[in-house]
Amino acid sequence: MSKPIYMDYAATTFVKPAVLEEMIPYFTEYFGNPSSIYSLSRETKKAIDKARDRVAKGINADSNEIFFTGGGSEADNWALKGVAFANYNKGNHIITTQIEHHAILHACEYLEKHGFQVTYLPVDEYGLVSLDELEKAITDNTILVSIMFANNEIGTIQSISEIGKLCKSKKVLFHTDAVQALGNVPIDVKEMNIDLLSMAAHKIYGPKGTGALYIRKGVKIDNLVHGGAQERARRAGTENVAGIVGFGKAVELAVSNMEEHTNHLKTLRDKLINGLLKIPYSRLNGPSGTNRLAGNSNICFRFIEGEAILLLLDSMGICASSGSACTSGSLDPSHVLLAIGLPHEIAHGSLRLSLGDNTTEEEVDYVIESVGKVVQRLRDMSPLWDDFLKEGEK
Ligand SMILES: *Cc1c(COP(=O)(O)O)cnc(C)c1O
Repeated sequence: MSKPIYMDYAATTFVKPAVLEEMIPYFTEYFGNPSSIYSLSRETKKAIDKARDRVAKGINADSNEIFFTGGGSEADNWALKGVAFANYNKGNHIITTQIEHHAILHACEYLEKHGFQVTYLPVDEYGLVSLDELEKAITDNTILVSIMFANNEIGTIQSISEIGKLCKSKKVLFHTDAVQALGNVPIDVKEMNIDLLSMAAHKIYGPKGTGALYIRKGVKIDNLVHGGAQERARRAGTENVAGIVGFGKAVELAVSNMEEHTNHLKTLRDKLINGLLKIPYSRLNGPSGTNRLAGNSNICFRFIEGEAILLLLDSMGICASSGSACTSGSLDPSHVLLAIGLPHEIAHGSLRLSLGDNTTEEEVDYVIESVGKVVQRLRDMSPLWDDFLKEGEK
């Protein structure tokens, strides 16, 4: 099989050669346990410190506010459960949104079983949270607001600075899942008044299974893993040294090339979206223009199933997704598309194509053409389409 056309960068990315190159010596030459005393280990300890500095710099945090984790889901879970249980004496109310990643939503459901109350804020048709509604939802009992920086399905970028300012004025902790935003949107945790922020390496050309939680100095949070003194005793266990090194390099590259990277992606994204919207009875999900992630497109095609589109595209060598990688395989439509007001039958026919570093204009052209053919072929077999042609809108 020839090399597939990869348009699922929001699910994961390849590891950049420059990232891999920095990682390799930490599997082989410098394998010492960072906690040991001899000089072999000093190299690994130094490497972790350097990576911590790089990650901190990428979001304008202090190095001692960065805690490495096993990825984005772990950082999300830690932020929610850690803050909830450590601040239970202050209140038991948490505010989040209906369009969060499952790492947030399922952690909230778990907390609800343990005596916490969770408000799931609605969003408008573009996926934006209303500041007014957020302000109204905050009570004396609220301890934490968790609102994602940018959405993984429809690319909506929230007004994080305003949300941060509001939370600060209400003296409520503010966590944001910035897994999709990192490397795509400038992040400054100080200026944006962010107390906790989740990151993952594998969405920015780093290795899978590595991420971090930024915890602002002074935030009360329970330790995640009890054991040794790693991560200042907050997350015990011998560090994933090579992964951490790769993450540090990935953040450095992502942040230094951000403008060039996102301008390139926006041009390709807009070409893709415009091409796909020429297909009859299609619509764009999520915002158009500036508050959309540079590499994200999400389109609905009426009268067909998203899963069927994906299978046919796969047979043509195109890797795409119908929403979040975690929900495909289930028959429920995406919770994000339902939250922006799409009816079930339309939400089922959605296609997410997310672009990245290796995407070319030729690939975009090929994908537009292929999706057009696939949609036509599926509609030709669809009784819904047949009824629609005979009887029009019911
Ligand atoms: C991918 C993703 C996660 C999960 O990160 P993992 O490293 O895969 O655990 C969390 N939130 C968002 C928005 C994501 O896109």
